[in-house]
Amino acid sequence: MLGPVILAASRSDRMRRLISAAPVTKPVVDRFIPGETVGDIVPVIRDLTGKGLEVTMDVVGEDITAPEQATAARDAYLELIGRLKELELGERAEMSVKLSMFGQALPGGHELALANVRPVVEAAAEIGTTVTLDAEDHTTLDSMFAIHEELRKDFPQTGCVIQAYLFRTEDDARRLAAAGSRVRLVKGAYKEPASVAYQQKHEIDKAYVRILKVLMEGEGYPMIGSHDPRLITISQELARRAGRKLDEYEFQMLYGIRGDEHLRLAAEGHRMRVYTAYGTDWYGYFMRRLAEKPANLQFFLRSMVSKG
Ligand SMILES: Cc1cc2nc3c(=O)[nH]c(=O)nc-3n(C[C@H](O)[C@H](O)[C@H](O)COP(=O)(O)OP(=O)(O)OC[C@H]3O[C@@H](n4cnc5c(N)ncnc54)[C@H](O)[C@@H]3O)c2cc1C
Repeated sequence: MLGPVILAASRSDRMRRLISAAPVTKPVVDRFIPGETVGDIVPVIRDLTGKGLEVTMDVVGEDITAPEQATAARDAYLELIGRLKELELGERAEMSVKLSMFGQALPGGHELALANVRPVVEAAAEIGTTVTLDAEDHTTLDSMFAIHEELRKDFPQTGCVIQAYLFRTEDDARRLAAAGSRVRLVKGAYKEPASVAYQQKHEIDKAYVRILKVLMEGEGYPMIGSHDPRLITISQELARRAGRKLDEYEFQMLYGIRGDEHLRLAAEGHRMRVYTAYGTDWYGYFMRRLAEKPANLQFFLRSMVSKG
């Protein structure tokens, strides 16, 4: 019940100001967003990759209001890629981007986002890695898929995300399950209306399994973005039935969530990639993490009361 309320708050400027300024917020945020600058995040990348994990890096930020912010987003990713080059991690460190941060919602946004993201994809390819386009709310997806298709003409390894809660996603999965295509399947983290998305957890979980089957039986590279223990077991079974070797799919989880499970899967020989977000504009990302698990909100509120 609380999830939709928190997701609505994640779009409110008033709540953004209130929560971002609360003195007790920072330590709770740090669990999910372990740094504000490239300098902060490099040791985190070293630590995770040193443990046999891989990373996908997200510079937090979305819903920008001016083209200069989109240019700044591009530059922040280019700076990160410059640092990754020194670490020589190749595809063990890739990038995740939200096109809204590259200007997608501004006037002329589709072209603007494509123009801003292309140099990031090029720079990633130069250091032997790639970029995955995150999925945002359903109104942005036709543009995201069109940009994905355009980028794949020159950089076929560019990945994208599909969300199991949307009715459209089974069809998207069939189209995307082609050779050379990298697709991350997640449940979906936005507040979506019943006209486009399943609302009940059991329906979303069932859709996740149906779509995962399509990806596993297809010719692309499935990336399982979930912390759900049942879905992880089912993924392993579907991969086995599809005759996939351990390096023909990967698991992905968010930094700060089920860290022991990251290490367990890596120790079993799986490719395990940790989605690691950093930066100062963390509000939207943080609120989605609170919405996913009511216990996070309770913890957050308790820390406000005890410190306040
Ligand atoms: C690598 C990755 C990338 C993602 N990219 C996108 C994207 O591009 N677009 C998009 O819409 N969504 C994205 N998501 C978020 C996703 O849609 C879900 O909201 C999120 O993963 C929670 O769903 P779940 O599959 O983990 O299952 P759930 O049923 O929500 O959770 C299963 C278990 O995982 C743990 N857990 C899950 N979330 C949390 C949390 N926030 N805090 C603490 N414990 C938690 C709990 O133990 C829970 O019982 C991404 C998720 C991952 C892992």
